Amino acid sequence: MSKVAFITGATRGIGKQIAITLAENGYDICLNYRKENDELNNTKKEIENNNVKCLTVQGDVSSFDDCKKMCDEIIAEFGKIDVLVNNAGITKDTLLMRMSKEDFESVIDVNLTGTFNVTKNVVPFMMKARSGKIINISSVVGVAGNAGQTNYAASKAGIIGFTKSLAKEIGSRNIQVNAVAPGFIETQMTEVLSDSVKEEISKNIPLKRMGTTTDVANLVKFLASDDSSYITGQVINVDGGMVM
Ligand code: NAP
Repeated sequence: MSKVAFITGATRGIGKQIAITLAENGYDICLNYRKENDELNNTKKEIENNNVKCLTVQGDVSSFDDCKKMCDEIIAEFGKIDVLVNNAGITKDTLLMRMSKEDFESVIDVNLTGTFNVTKNVVPFMMKARSGKIINISSVVGVAGNAGQTNYAASKAGIIGFTKSLAKEIGSRNIQVNAVAPGFIETQMTEVLSDSVKEEISKNIPLKRMGTTTDVANLVKFLASDDSSYITGQVINVDGGMVM
């Protein structure tokens, strides 16, 4: 029986590549999206080309009800969730002096509360199965901080605390919970940066380049696999050595 992986925010960027990489490795995929678009249908086709199933589930992770509904749909279709990847995330960057309360709250709502909302609905099924892998996409910014990102850094640091605490709570049920902390990865999220800013960032990365979505997906693949079964509560950077 194939393993089932649920990936949030998976129609583009890092989430999409994680879904494709896991599909290439034989997982049935549950793909979360917010709004139907061409990219969603293309991603679904790309996944199904690997002879695995792909269920698309609509929902906003900042809504607890949406997360419950998505989880119920997955259980009705597959009866289990082996791997959860909390990937959906947003940025609303600006200096604290200019940041509105709404800018702060919306980033926390999606990135941190969203991680809680999805995980809370998935964990009971993993507990029953006495097995599961939860992989939370944090950021090196949650470890090291970054000017202009107090909201985002707080959400990503929160994910790290959440990951470690949950790892302690449910390790005895054979469920591993880890966080992945990407550095600067080429996606729509970083597309807004000018070429000169990207060059400057790359200069300060020991491996002298921005990361690719595949760099992140390969680490997630490892954490989802049995090869990582004695690893829990960890934050693993995938950042070309940017933060050590
Ligand atoms: P991206 O290209 O902007 O994609 C983000 C994805 O999240 C999109 O599919 C988006 O769907 C989805 N999403 C946003 N809000 C959502 C919500 N409320 N409910 C459900 N889905 C939602 O970003 P990315 O670069 O791939 O980032 C993916 C994750 O990696 C994020 O958690 C991000 O913080 C983290 N990360 C990225 C980098 C980087 O350099 N790119 C570095 C460190 C960490 P819509 O199309 O509907 O908006």
